[in-house]
Amino acid sequence: MRQIDHHMTGGAPASARSGDVFDPNNGGVQAQVALGDAALLDKAVSAAQAAQPAWAATNPQRRARVMFKFKELVEANMDELAHRLSSEHGKVIADSRGDVQRGLEVIEFCCGIPHALKGEHTQGAGPGIDVFSMRQPLGIGAGITPFNFPAMIPMWMFGPAIATGNAFILKPSERDPSVPVRLCELMLEAGLPEGILQCLHGDKEMVDAIIAHPAIGGISFVGSSDVAHYIYSNGTANNKRVQAMGGAKNHGIVMPDADLDQVVNDLAGAAFGSAGERCMALPVVVPVGEDTADKLREKLIPAINGLRVGISTDEEAHYGPVVNEAHKERVEGWIQKGVDEGAELVIDGRGFALQGHEDGFFIGPSLFDRVTPDMESYKEEIFGPVLQMVRANSFEEALALPSQHQYGNGVAIFTRNGHAAREFAARVNVGMVGINVPIPVPVAYHTFGGWKRSAFGDTNQHGMEGVKFWTKVKTVTARWPDGSPDGGPETNDAFVIPTMG
Ligand code: NAD
Repeated sequence: MRQIDHHMTGGAPASARSGDVFDPNNGGVQAQVALGDAALLDKAVSAAQAAQPAWAATNPQRRARVMFKFKELVEANMDELAHRLSSEHGKVIADSRGDVQRGLEVIEFCCGIPHALKGEHTQGAGPGIDVFSMRQPLGIGAGITPFNFPAMIPMWMFGPAIATGNAFILKPSERDPSVPVRLCELMLEAGLPEGILQCLHGDKEMVDAIIAHPAIGGISFVGSSDVAHYIYSNGTANNKRVQAMGGAKNHGIVMPDADLDQVVNDLAGAAFGSAGERCMALPVVVPVGEDTADKLREKLIPAINGLRVGISTDEEAHYGPVVNEAHKERVEGWIQKGVDEGAELVIDGRGFALQGHEDGFFIGPSLFDRVTPDMESYKEEIFGPVLQMVRANSFEEALALPSQHQYGNGVAIFTRNGHAAREFAARVNVGMVGINVPIPVPVAYHTFGGWKRSAFGDTNQHGMEGVKFWTKVKTVTARWPDGSPDGGPETNDAFVIPTMG
């Protein structure tokens, strides 16, 4: 059976434990991934410590050149990366390309790192005194990533961390570990020195070792909220800088004046694309008014019934299988829960079998109507191809739903009314807002991050927030006396807190 090893300087010693990597299209195990421990992390950290000072001292333009070269290499290897990604994750090839491309856009931002790293300077802040600031790397950073974007999210993290002069240890999801390893190989091929980017596989044991390691200065995490909270609280208790992005339950508000054909098209992609395994999916639709709800439902039913579920290499498929059997059971369990709680299951995607791939982890699309905010299946993240309709009577009622939900990652409003959209964007208690945009993932030079239980820590991913997260500010106050006898302060002044007054 194929083995997927750690990617580390000096080669990886054999790991005592390993995990199964499935082929979601067929249901079998396709590879074994090594699962590391604290001793392995120590070895990687030593290599990182040896390499990082010289990398931090390399001028930012040279560091940017590695990013340029890496971008070219990823583009040249796009087909191979997308196929690998789909074979372990299950998303369709076009979507895997999007996963790689969205990560590359962060790398493109990092190509401009010399500009982003420039500090501030004040000439003559006091008599003969200049003040300037510089951004210095944390030293060694670590990234712990989820299964659902195995290319984009590692690049969100290692791009800014490395461009700003850190060494980086990536602990990707053990469910689809091949693409992260390949990205590390391409970074080396692009000219990155050994020791600056290493990929260690593992589960909780490796994560706990990262949280405890005294030489790791910052941890970036993306995954489910309970784990995000665990890593945030334990990492910060160990004096590390931590940003931890968690789960989501994004709502799409449909105003009575919205273009319903456009909404149905957008919703189908945003709710069911990637089998709903996106933190920026739109699994909840909130039509405003019974009339809007009835019309929307009428249009949604044929659109959802027309979705094609297929293997990830099927170019006609709208979405593929979910990542593994356990997740399939979990999603189907939530569908049953919705039925038990009294929601109306309009389309039932359970029991779906794809001919020739009966053991694959496929789930057909499901639609619920008359979901209410007290239901557990509404409060929790399902992370599958399930769309829940919650009917609202007014704009205010619709605005309150995402605002009061425990998650606050993304939200969208569909309307032709600029005033309603403007009010909604300003008042909704959610971190990322789409106006007639169903998946409002900000572009790479803005920043990504949710609110409430969707993110712990106060610095977002990528853009200038990424640069800030991976660096510390140092501020220098400098005076160069002219050497003449009256060039220094009066004797007594030395005992008084200096002011610029
Ligand atoms: P997950 O929390 O199960 O795993 C994420 C990472 O944490 C993996 O590397 C895993 O090995 C590790 N991990 C898992 N359990 C752990 C534990 N008990 N202790 C320590 N580490 C542990 O998440 P997932 O299933 O891989 O990804 C899906 C989740 O990620 C969803 O909740 C989704 O909404 C979320 N997500 C959020 C964002 C965002 O930006 N907010 C983006 C993508 C995915």
